[in-house]
Parts: sequence; structure tokens; C-alpha cells
Amino acid sequence: MSEDLFLKIIDRQIPADIVFETEDVLAFRDINPQAPVHVLIIPKVHIRTINDIEQEHEALVGKLFTAAREIAAQEGVAEDGYRVVMNCNEGAGQSVFHIHLHLLGGRGLTWPPG
Ligand code: 5GP
Repeated sequence: MSEDLFLKIIDRQIPADIVFETEDVLAFRDINPQAPVHVLIIPKVHIRTINDIEQEHEALVGKLFTAAREIAAQEGVAEDGYRVVMNCNEGAGQSVFHIHLHLLGGRGLTWPPG
């Protein structure tokens, strides 16, 4: 999968169902949802994996979580519960190399994940 797929979504070169946007963060529905609510939350700057997060990105990474909180409320899953997860590298299932939080909700979620 293209390394810069999500940059193309940010640039509106590829369509997406956008549910939230700020100056720094974009969120849109996953094309292959694993739950009734499955939203991807990304920074607008390209950071390849969690391993590439630097100290200068700390505030930005925090904004992914405040976005998650707002989207969970917007999607009506905040009270029942939801999960945010970020996969790092192929072994953990990362397939798009631009960091993204998955926000999953709207159904019961088991632990541990597969
Ligand atoms: P990862 O496997 O890297 O943690 O998550 C990548 C996610 O991006 C997958 O859940 C996949 O379904 C989603 N995805 C891949 N291509 C597209 C796309 O073009 N549009 C949207 N909305 N989601 C995509």
C-alpha cells in the first residue's frame, strides 16, 4: 500500500468520509470498518510509524487523543466505551505508513485483540 496514501486524503486527491478536521489533525471513516464506528485519526504531517515520533511531535500526538475524545462523543460511543489503537510496523498489522489512531466502537470489544 502506498506510503503516502493518507497524505493524498489530506490533499483531497483521494476521497474519504471525513468526520473531523483541525489545522493539525484529520479523521475519516475506515474504508474496511471493523466495528460500527471505525474512524482513523491522523496528523497532517507525515510521521511514518510510532518509532519515528520525536519529542517535537509530543503536542501533536496529544491532539490525536483529544480528537479521539471529541469524535467518540460525536459518534455516540463515549459512554458505552470504545478503543483507540495504533499499530506499529508490519508485525503489528500496520499497512499504511503514516501514523493513525484507529477509533473503534459501537459493539463489544474483547481483550486481548488478535
Ligand atoms: P493499519 O493496518 O495501517 O493499522 O490501518 C490502515 C487502515 O487504513 C486499515 O484499517 C484500512 O482499512 C484503512 N485504509 C486503507 N486504505 C484506505 C483508504 O483509501 N481510505 C480509507 N478511508 N481507509 C483506508
